[in-house]
Amino acid sequence: MEVDYIIVGQGLSGSFLSWKLIKAGKKVVVIDNASPNVASKIASGVINPVTGRRIVSTWMIDNLLPYSFEAYTAFGSDLNATLISQKNILDFHPTQQMQLAFKDKIPVENNYLRCNEDEGELKKFFNFNYGVGEINPCYLIDVSLLISEWRTQLIEKKVLLEEDFKSENLAIISHTSESDLPIEETVEYKGIKAKKVIFCDGAKGAENPFFKLLPYAKNKGEAVIAEIDGLPRNNIYKHGLSLVPWKDNLWWIGSTYDWNFSDLNPTAIFRIKAEQTLQHWVKLPYKVVGHLATERPANLERRPFVGLHPLHSSIGILNGMGTKGCSLVPYFANELTAYLLNNTPINPLADVQRFRKILSR
Ligand SMILES: Cc1cc2nc3c(=O)[nH]c(=O)nc-3n(C[C@H](O)[C@H](O)[C@H](O)COP(=O)(O)OP(=O)(O)OC[C@H]3O[C@@H](n4cnc5c(N)ncnc54)[C@H](O)[C@@H]3O)c2cc1C
Repeated sequence: MEVDYIIVGQGLSGSFLSWKLIKAGKKVVVIDNASPNVASKIASGVINPVTGRRIVSTWMIDNLLPYSFEAYTAFGSDLNATLISQKNILDFHPTQQMQLAFKDKIPVENNYLRCNEDEGELKKFFNFNYGVGEINPCYLIDVSLLISEWRTQLIEKKVLLEEDFKSENLAIISHTSESDLPIEETVEYKGIKAKKVIFCDGAKGAENPFFKLLPYAKNKGEAVIAEIDGLPRNNIYKHGLSLVPWKDNLWWIGSTYDWNFSDLNPTAIFRIKAEQTLQHWVKLPYKVVGHLATERPANLERRPFVGLHPLHSSIGILNGMGTKGCSLVPYFANELTAYLLNNTPINPLADVQRFRKILSR
């Protein structure tokens, strides 16, 4: 069998990249091991344009936000599914100081921050003392639906292999030329010949022999899943933890950002913290029905890894999406596709060539 690209991983990155390449008429095989415990299947799916205690716009958000809207709408139309909806964040200030800090930022981040004028209505559902700010627009992505519907299409197209990709079965074939032109490479994996293999293997990328020297700094996140009947589902609510409308009419409550962890198991400490937050904050009865935990493919620079390996023109990567995969993946899957097809440059801050020295060791 001969294809243009082998893509390893069908999380958000592998899904977007394979969709873009197939739409461009390329032959693709996707290899994914169907692990249930990966970032894309546990993410709440929020695109929030501001970040942190200092409430500043996130990197490139003025480009990423409109691009994401278009990309999820187009992907959704191919899948016959609604993947993106606007759900603004109502940010319940925990202290008077935070309330003032938010108000001070409104003129600076006036594209995204507002005062919320509807506190009377919110008092029906929540206990709070220091007012509510609004982050607008924010979007919610149905990541699980995207992955499951695209997987169905990949299976129908007979281009999905459900198995663990093992690098020891990958052969890199160098085609020497008699001219002075650079040596061309192709790959072969268990009888599948391809021009390139692109790794979209998420947190497992830190063990990938071609890219493990990249400065991954994996980060663990937990969330509990709860039933809360009667809570309006038109917003995301935030009070330390975020309360996000999730699949099957449930709510996703999270998350933690743990840099030091010994395993990926859900912890009793987080469950207690989440339940305490719900008890103090939400006036409606709730029932916790699930508890999830996994690692994010984060890195020290907080910028993605996109492009081709400096030593191997047949090996590529789309990874390092950290806490912001929902907004970064569509944009950089598009940049990588344009680079592969037309040699259009990748943003140097995301291009994996910036690690040429490290990867050449
Ligand atoms: C608790 C939590 C909450 C989050 N919330 C948000 C959020 O609200 N907004 C946001 O933007 N981001 C969020 N994120 C981050 C987001 O989930 C990630 O940035 C994004 O999903 C990364 O997608 P990915 O496809 O690059 O990696 P992954 O989702 O990890 O996908 C990698 C895929 O590769 C497969 N794979 C790996 N190795 C192999 C192999 N050897 N063989 C075959 N298959 C393999 C895996 O099974 C998986 O399917 C959150 C993450 C967590 C953990």
